[in-house]
This record gives sequence, structure tokens and C-alpha cells, in this order.
Amino acid sequence: MKDCIFCKIVAKEIPAHVVYEDSDFLAFLDIRPLSPGHTLIIPKNHYRWVWDLPGESIGKYFQVAQKVALALKRAFGVDCIMSKIVGEEVPHAHIWVFADPSVKIEKVDAKDFESITTKIRM
Ligand SMILES: [Zn+2]
Repeated sequence: MKDCIFCKIVAKEIPAHVVYEDSDFLAFLDIRPLSPGHTLIIPKNHYRWVWDLPGESIGKYFQVAQKVALALKRAFGVDCIMSKIVGEEVPHAHIWVFADPSVKIEKVDAKDFESITTKIRM
């Protein structure tokens, strides 16, 4: 969709720190992380809300979210990985996956996007 920032990320018109990509979904680091590795998972096609995805793809969508959650667990040794679906800031479906912000992750700067991408990229 024209003027959608996430569609522009999918089209590679805007750079992002991509940690996972397949034919239907893209996962990239949030530029305002709540904790190191805070990732947004989006469908490549434009849908306004997560709940708008067709039935057959919603399961795949959550499998990608699970992959990201497990990658964060592995990368940072954090047991609690949270997820949030709100969607009011950018009008393109997205799922947030992030380590519990109350758990201090030693020696990792949440804004060191380059090395975090290397750590969790799948
Ligand atoms: Zn879009």
C-alpha cells in the first residue's frame, strides 16, 4: 500500500534489520526497542490488522512469531518472551515479540542493532 512504512520495508525502500524472511512474512528489529532484540513480525501483503489475515496464513504467521521468540530466548538466555498485538501506531498488521523488559540483559545495548541482528538472525 502506498505511504505505508511497513510496505516500504517489505519493498526494501526503507532499510531494516531483518532477522527472518520467507515468501509471506518478514521479521525485523524495532527501532525503539523495549528490550534487546525487540522484533516486529509482519505479513508481506498489506493487512490493516493481524485479524484480517486469511485463515490458512494465520497459523504460519504465529509459527514465525514462535521462531522469533525461541531465537530471542536462545540469544539472550531469557525465559520470559512477551508478545503484543496492538497495531494503532502503524496501520499494517504486526506482532511484537520481545524479551521481558524487567529482566536485565547484561552487556547488550538494545540499540546495537547490527550485532543483535547477527545474534538472532535465522
Ligand atoms: Zn503496509
